Amino acid sequence: MARLVMKFGGTSVGDIDRIRNVAAHVQREVDAGHQVAVVVSAMSGETNRLVGLTRDVARLHDAREYDVVVSAGEQVSVGLLAMALQDVGVAARSWLGWQIAMKTSDVHGAARIEDVDVAAMEEQFGEGRVAVIAGFQGISGNGRITTLGRGGSDTSAVAVAAALKADRCDIYTDVDGVYTTDPRMVPAAQKMNRISYEEMLEMASLGAKVLQTRSVELAMSHNVRLQVRSSFDAPDDAKFKNMAPDDIVGTLICDEDEIMEHEIVSGIAYARNEAKLTLLGVPDRPGIAAQIFGPLADAAVNVDMIVQNMSPDGKTTDVTFTVSQDELERAVKVVEAEKVGLDYSQLQSAPEMAKISIVGVGMRSHAGVAQKMFKVLADQGINIHVISTSEIKISVLIDADYVEPAVRALHAAYGLDEEVAG
Ligand code: ADP
Ligand code: ASP
Ligand code: MG
Repeated sequence: MARLVMKFGGTSVGDIDRIRNVAAHVQREVDAGHQVAVVVSAMSGETNRLVGLTRDVARLHDAREYDVVVSAGEQVSVGLLAMALQDVGVAARSWLGWQIAMKTSDVHGAARIEDVDVAAMEEQFGEGRVAVIAGFQGISGNGRITTLGRGGSDTSAVAVAAALKADRCDIYTDVDGVYTTDPRMVPAAQKMNRISYEEMLEMASLGAKVLQTRSVELAMSHNVRLQVRSSFDAPDDAKFKNMAPDDIVGTLICDEDEIMEHEIVSGIAYARNEAKLTLLGVPDRPGIAAQIFGPLADAAVNVDMIVQNMSPDGKTTDVTFTVSQDELERAVKVVEAEKVGLDYSQLQSAPEMAKISIVGVGMRSHAGVAQKMFKVLADQGINIHVISTSEIKISVLIDADYVEPAVRALHAAYGLDEEVAG
C-alpha cells in the first residue's frame, strides 16, 4: 500500500464528464489499495472569470477580498469531485484551505505555505476515506483566506505530499509530461522521462507553466517524488494494472544523479509578458544602481534582467532593465518620480518583449553553448536586447513577435526536435 497525492488542473476538471473521469482515476488508485489525497484546481476559465470580476467592481481592490473571491472556484470543484467519488462508491470528503488548515503567510495573492496540518486527514485515511483538497488557497495567521499565486494548486499538492510523506505526488494535466519545450508551440517537442529538480525549477521560473515554480522548489527541498502525467489517459488503461509506486508513466522530476545521460541543453522556455525600460544619460557615479532599484523594490516591482552600459565619456551611462508587462506602468511611475534625484536625460519603455531561455545542467561543462544561441538567432534576423546567464541557463530578451521562430529554431539547433521516422 502506498500513499499518493493526485492533483488535477483546471482543464482536467473542466466539466462534469471530466470530473467523472477524474473520479475514475482516483477510484483506480483506491481499488489498488492506496491511501489517496486529491488536490484540485477550479474548473478551467473560472479563476480568470473571478479575477475579471474583482477588476470590474472597483478601481483599487483590497487584496484580502480579492483572495476571498478568486479562491471560490476551488470550493466548487472539490465539492463536485467529492460527490462524483461518492457516486461511484468511493468514500470521500472535501477540505477547504482553512479546514485543513493550510497555514500561509499573509501576502495576499502570493502567499507562501508555512504549515499543513494533515492529522485529521490521516485519521480519515484509516477509515478508507479519500481527502479532496481545494488547491490554491490557504489561511493566514490572521484567519483570512489567502491564495498562492496563479497556478498555485501545484504547490498545494506538493505541500500536502510533503506533510503526508507521500510516496509520490502526481500532477495530472492536459499534456502527458514535461516536454523539451511547450508542445503546443513546437509540435516536434519531445517528452522527457526524467528531468532534474534544478532544470525544472529553471524551466518553470523562465515561463514553462506546466508546474508552478514554488511547487518545484518545495518538492526539491522536501524530496517529494513528483510526476507530471496526463488526466486524459483512460483511467482503466491496461498499462496502469499492477503498477508499482516507482513506475513512471509521465515525467519524473528527480535528483540529477537519478538521470543517466545529460543533454547540454535539455529544454527551452519562453515568457511573453516582458517589458523593457531604459534610462538614458544617467550620471555614472557610485550608488546610482541602488538609487534606481531601491525605490522599485520598495514599490514591490520585480526587476528581472539588468544591463548597465559603459559610458563613453565617463560621465553618463544607460541602464536597461526588464519587468513584467503588468508591472510596467507602476515601474514607469516610480522611475519618473525619482527623476530629480536620478538626473537621467530620457526614459524609454518597450512593452512588447519576450524572454527566451535555454536550460541544461550539461552547460556547466561545455563551452560555446551561448555562442550557438546567438548565431541561431542572428541567422533568423532576430535582434537580442538583453542577455543574462547562470550556470545552467542562458536567457535573451527579444521582440515578442519573434517568440515562435526563435523557439523553433533553437529547438532544432540544439538537437531537441523529435526525429520523424521514415
Ligand atoms: P493545469 O491547468 O493542469 O494546471 P497548465 O495549463 O497550468 O495546466 O499547464 C499545462 C500546460 O503547460 C500545457 O498545456 C502546456 O501548453 C504548457 N507547457 C509549457 N511548457 C511546457 C513544457 N515544457 N512541457 C509541457 N507543457 C508545457
Ligand atoms: N485556479 C488557480 C489558477 O487558475 C490555481 C491553479 O489552477 O493551480 O491559477
Ligand atoms: Mg497549472
